[in-house]
Amino acid sequence: MYIRISEIDNTENKVKQINFSEIFEEFNKEVPVSANLKLEIIGSLIKISGQINAKLNLICDLCLKEFTKEFNIEVEEFFSQDSSFCSNTGEFEIKQDCFIEDLNGKDEINISDFVYQSVILHIPNKLVCDINCNGSEIVNKYIKTDFTDPRLEVFKNIKLEKE
Ligand SMILES: [Zn+2]
Repeated sequence: MYIRISEIDNTENKVKQINFSEIFEEFNKEVPVSANLKLEIIGSLIKISGQINAKLNLICDLCLKEFTKEFNIEVEEFFSQDSSFCSNTGEFEIKQDCFIEDLNGKDEINISDFVYQSVILHIPNKLVCDINCNGSEIVNKYIKTDFTDPRLEVFKNIKLEKE
């Protein structure tokens, strides 16, 4: 889904509300990611804010079983139509953890990409299906195995010279 900046600009108060719903196969083949977003033009900036709801099919790091986790994400992000606003990295920090992304002269915003990236950023590094998950036998066996490599033992005896 793409939204042209002129579509926001042509509204009476330069605000456009959108209801987004799209299937991202990597997240969930059946349940679409939905979002309720507000697009606003503020000077040369475009502010996107709202909520994203996604049900992701994930793999548990402990038991390796598939599980579904629901994410409700609050977003607030700025895009700039004026490149001079942004540093050469294409981003400009207006306050801590709040960046403006340069549109690089584009006259539309890729909403699908915006929603996709927002969800990706919210997936935790460690995925666990349930706080009571005990893991699988195979994975546990791996974790408990001593991986000491006898070839590396020799390094224990090397004396390091102090600089
Ligand atoms: Zn698990």
